[in-house]
Amino acid sequence: MSIKFGPAGIGGVKEAISNLEIYHKLGLKACEIAFTYSIYIREKEDAIKIGKAAKRFGIILSIHAPYWINLNSEDKEKVEKSRERILKCCEVGTWLGAYRVVFHPGYYGEDRKKAYENIKREILTIQEEIKKRKYTPKLAPETMGRVNVFGNVDEISKLSEETGCDFCIDFAHILARYKSYNFEEVLKKFAKYKKLHIHFSGIEHGEKGEKYHKETARKEWEKLLGNLPKNKEIVIINESPTPIEDSLEGLRTYSG
Ligand SMILES: [Zn+2]
Repeated sequence: MSIKFGPAGIGGVKEAISNLEIYHKLGLKACEIAFTYSIYIREKEDAIKIGKAAKRFGIILSIHAPYWINLNSEDKEKVEKSRERILKCCEVGTWLGAYRVVFHPGYYGEDRKKAYENIKREILTIQEEIKKRKYTPKLAPETMGRVNVFGNVDEISKLSEETGCDFCIDFAHILARYKSYNFEEVLKKFAKYKKLHIHFSGIEHGEKGEKYHKETARKEWEKLLGNLPKNKEIVIINESPTPIEDSLEGLRTYSG
């Protein structure tokens, strides 16, 4: 088994390569580029350079797409814009050599079943475009932390089952949503996949689920790492306020 640890965040275009070098020296082997507020790596040349550096430092890259995505909006223009944002991430991700584009699929609206069907249809449409344009990252809708937001474990596993997309299992979100990590049950649903893309950090939660991410306690790392399968390639991205330190704590826990 291999587990690669790394933070959410690569820094600005100018710092990205030196940050990758720092991560590498610390022993981290993954990094998720946060396009959550904007797709800020704009030049193809920059993206290619950053991608090459990541390869040189042995760091696997993924992308987190902008928060402003709702593939189940009633407003067609919003769906169109959401699709474009995801595709733009896939284009930049191709330049970077990123392996996944993680995104929050959308909201339930009136009808949960309809939401599922709409989001599934949009993912299939985006995948057709990805194929046509020869983009290389795979789509990875994420398990979401609030009970009123689309993206429970069943929905995400069904999406990957029915569209062939990838997925992001956010165990902090799962804890917030279900009040338990449900490791066995969750991992069973993704048992057939060789690669697992995981988000993990501390989380503050209440009745409705996620409130905010917080530092990742060692005992939480122990719970996660004690429950992950031994025969898979796993990437764990930490999204706490101190994602580098927390990734290192994960790595230390893992290396015992
Ligand atoms: Zn996310």
